[in-house]
Amino acid sequence: MSDKPKVAFYWCASCGGCEEAVVDLAEDILKVVEAVDIVMWPVAMDFKKSDIEARPDKSIVAAFINGAVRTSEQEEMARLLRRKSQVVVSFGACANSGGIPALANQFKREDILKYVYEDCPSVVNSEKVRPQTETQNEGRTLTLPEFRQMVRSLDQVIDVEYYLPGCPPTPKVIMAAVQALLSGKLPPKGTVLSPDIALCEECPRKDSKPADLALTEFKRPHQVLIDPEKCLLAQGLVCMGPATRSGCEALCPQGNMPCTGCFGPSSRVKDQGAKFVSSVFSNIAPKEEAEIDAVLDGIPDPIGTFYRYGLSKCLLKRKLS
Ligand code: SF4
Ligand code: SF4
Repeated sequence: MSDKPKVAFYWCASCGGCEEAVVDLAEDILKVVEAVDIVMWPVAMDFKKSDIEARPDKSIVAAFINGAVRTSEQEEMARLLRRKSQVVVSFGACANSGGIPALANQFKREDILKYVYEDCPSVVNSEKVRPQTETQNEGRTLTLPEFRQMVRSLDQVIDVEYYLPGCPPTPKVIMAAVQALLSGKLPPKGTVLSPDIALCEECPRKDSKPADLALTEFKRPHQVLIDPEKCLLAQGLVCMGPATRSGCEALCPQGNMPCTGCFGPSSRVKDQGAKFVSSVFSNIAPKEEAEIDAVLDGIPDPIGTFYRYGLSKCLLKRKLS
């Protein structure tokens, strides 16, 4: 193999969208491939865990790991890549804060297993068989990863140098990160590699966002004919822009859809959902409790709305088993 810097990609609890995002670099991917040797990329190349184990510690310049951590196998691979890499980049919303997989933290582990293997209407399992971490079969031991109690972000399992936000990160933020790594001009450890301001600042609709939104109802996108120019929040749509970091160029608001918060919070915000609730709900026009409740009825799934990408980092964390 050449003496080019070595780079690894890995996916944990992930939908595969972050892997697609790398392919979405289009012709820019050729610049990446020209500059580095890829030593692991399960979605695209046939490297094995043993290939990584055989490498000297810290011999990989950067490991880009996407997906949250739910199983013992994901935890083991994250720890292995940490040992072998100089820099670990937490890639995408699931790795950064749990993402969609972390919505499972609303449910106890046992309730999830019971539903999936016993109660789900499409399941036939009269003997209530559950997957086992070890099974004996014809003199051989078969193993499966353990399903952990909760979904964790990558930095709740290993030390992480940098974060690429987004679901998935956009080609622009990925290329900026790759160029920073290759040039050696690295920001301080812990940096989220996108601008540290709220999305509203880069949204083309920002001039139509009133200081007092005076909200009288919340509507979902399919319930309203959306004005393509006006601030979405001012139209009663839950747009997470005020509590979300910029850097995506407001792709969703530009496409007439509210921001769902995938870039996570800015550095001044501890809890993205709580920040949104505190800043926007104070703009609800009615002041009587029953009337306020009627306005809030327009948000049928508050956790899925305010913590769609961040339940692992929510201050309340999860339901205890
Ligand atoms: S961040 Fe989004 S695109 Fe990436 S793995 Fe998670 S759900 Fe998929
Ligand atoms: S609330 Fe949404 S639509 Fe309004 S300015 Fe902010 S990002 Fe744009």
